[in-house]
Amino acid sequence: MKKIKICHLYGNLLNTYGDVGNVMAYAHEARKNGYEVEIDTVSIGDFFDWEKYNFVFFGGGQDYEQRIVQSDLLEKKLNIKKYIENNGVFLAICGGYQLLGQYYYDAYNKKINGLNIFNHYTVNQENGKRFTGPVKIKDCNSGKIYEGFENHGGVTYLSENQNEFGTVIDGNGNNGTDKTEGFRYKNTIGTYLHGPLLARNEELCKDLLKLSIENVNDN
Ligand code: GLN
Repeated sequence: MKKIKICHLYGNLLNTYGDVGNVMAYAHEARKNGYEVEIDTVSIGDFFDWEKYNFVFFGGGQDYEQRIVQSDLLEKKLNIKKYIENNGVFLAICGGYQLLGQYYYDAYNKKINGLNIFNHYTVNQENGKRFTGPVKIKDCNSGKIYEGFENHGGVTYLSENQNEFGTVIDGNGNNGTDKTEGFRYKNTIGTYLHGPLLARNEELCKDLLKLSIENVNDN
């Protein structure tokens, strides 16, 4: 039987608002399609085997946990980059999305270094303000509509060479001003949408699984 191998990056630390539900929804969809599923939590001190996985999930977190993972994350940078460049399917939500970029200034205005694989950067809103509430976006590639909710103090700005994941219809998205939501590069998506996103938006779950299946080997 063919197997889908899932990596839940820092699943024991970064998992706000039930983000693990994305892994569960994805695994469920894979089983429905006749695949066996293996899920590894890859966390502090663990080797990230970039050639092993068909799907990597990197969830959201409180500032505290984001700070804990930052140095370990940098040790995994090379392999994460290889996975992404090799068209690996990668979904990063909120805190995970922020950490794929250059940096995140937390609620105390202290800098947390990101992986710097992508050029987006995140600063905090003044006076502890947070963006909370429902979000609706339109996928820039497919035109599909996704729903979720956001809860972030950080506001993110994309660089000119980055494409947003979606356009904001309702809610705030990356920064509340430019209508961009998340980013997409190859098969990597960063987004602020909790939900869990893949449980609330079955179409997206199916599309990501399809992309993974294209890369599955018999083993
Ligand atoms: N701590 C980050 C922020 O407040 C990320 C929050 C999250 O992942 N839910 O912006």
